[in-house]
Amino acid sequence: MQYCSTRSEKGLVSSSEAIVRGLAPDGGLYVPAGFPKAELESLQGLSYPALAARLLKLFLTDYESAFLEAAAGEAYGPGFGGKAGRLVRVEDGLYALELWHGPTCAFKDYALQLMPKLLVEAKKNLGDTETTLILVATSGDTGKAALEGYRDVPGVEIRVFYPNDGTSEIQRLQMSTQEGGNVGVWAVEGNFDSAQTGVKRVFADAAVAEALAGRGVRLSSANSINFGRLVPQLVYYFHAYLSLVREGAVPMGEAVDFCVPTGNFGDILAGWYAKQMGLPVGRLVCASNRNKVLADFFDTGVYEARREFYKTTSPSMDILVSSNLERLLYHLGGSPEAVAGWMQALAAEGRYKIGTELLARIRRDFAGGFAADEEAAAEIKELFARCRYLADPHTATAFRVAQRNRTGAPMVVLSTASPFKFPGSVLEALGQAVPENEFDAMIRLEEATGAKAPAALAALQTKPERFAGVIRPAEIAAVALGER
Ligand SMILES: *Cc1c(COP(=O)(O)O)cnc(C)c1O
Repeated sequence: MQYCSTRSEKGLVSSSEAIVRGLAPDGGLYVPAGFPKAELESLQGLSYPALAARLLKLFLTDYESAFLEAAAGEAYGPGFGGKAGRLVRVEDGLYALELWHGPTCAFKDYALQLMPKLLVEAKKNLGDTETTLILVATSGDTGKAALEGYRDVPGVEIRVFYPNDGTSEIQRLQMSTQEGGNVGVWAVEGNFDSAQTGVKRVFADAAVAEALAGRGVRLSSANSINFGRLVPQLVYYFHAYLSLVREGAVPMGEAVDFCVPTGNFGDILAGWYAKQMGLPVGRLVCASNRNKVLADFFDTGVYEARREFYKTTSPSMDILVSSNLERLLYHLGGSPEAVAGWMQALAAEGRYKIGTELLARIRRDFAGGFAADEEAAAEIKELFARCRYLADPHTATAFRVAQRNRTGAPMVVLSTASPFKFPGSVLEALGQAVPENEFDAMIRLEEATGAKAPAALAALQTKPERFAGVIRPAEIAAVALGER
């Protein structure tokens, strides 16, 4: 399998190169030149790691099978406590795909437990001996998952930047207490967009690149623009489907719908990739919070990022520029020239508009919707009262939107974070008093619901904080250069 940029089809690269480079030289995202077909029957009964290795192999063709099997075994083994790909029946025809049983309690672990192994092996495949310096701008979950994935990985340094007042207290502590000899964490003044813009500016700074190259260091990204983050995510769509077939909830070959709480459009795009590989995916429902750029885009074909930015109770979906949508536009027939034009318009004017034919093709596979904080809170309360199912605010947003978009097929909602990452918001939604301290809130949430807080989150209370630095976005370059 070879990979090209969404903005020009020249210069095909191997999967190792796509993973090491992250972004194509023309600023586009790497996409596979075609979609391999998966033989569903032959995948039945496989363990999660074995299924992952089989599907990864179809895309990562320059990696050895034995390497992929070992890597998947380590990534999805003890760290997931036997709950990788866990599917829970919520009520008739409605399921939660719980993706937060990994080490950092959010779905990002699926990609970021594996991706460091893919990167190290890719460097080996390419004979690349440079140090990789990873810069991550995070609204909360990516930062922690990347720190945990890359900690003490040889040949890699990682620096994470989060908005000073943009994460939950638990998310902040997860990062400020991070262990490892190759990690650094900084709070950045402003919101997520300021941190992200600051990091992007450093990536585009030739002087920084030159100074680092002189020391044998190359910058890289762990954000979901890297193809290495996308491919591990299609595995759990297959796993969920095969689980439903095994339970007799759907006959082999019949469609299942999925609803995905969406920010950067990476997770839901992986579902569309699974569909291209032959998985019977019916409708992909894209759920947004009040920052509903995508819901509006599916309605009108206009991507309008110039709008007010809202801080919500689902911070990992507080995003106005969904980078991975570029890949879908390319695959569904936007020519590389057209994609490059839209992305230029987005950068220059904050908006672009696609044609009606392309919009119609998108709508064949996708539906969009949104739920504001109050609706997500009401959904948390109702789901718990009706089904004894406890959802975090991101997952609840998707449940709300899913229920407005039922087709009669089974509906699987991707549950992307543990409710104990946001104990205050969840308690409030349940109509309970909210203690000031987040750890008291965690205990209250356990008492109120009978659910158990993940040990990794409860343990944060007694872990020493290692990182307390606050910087301005303009100082990110100094951090990259080791001057701060
Ligand atoms: C990152 C994240 C999302 C959004 O996923 P995308 O791939 O960016 O669309 C949703 N929920 C949670 C909890 C997340 O951490």
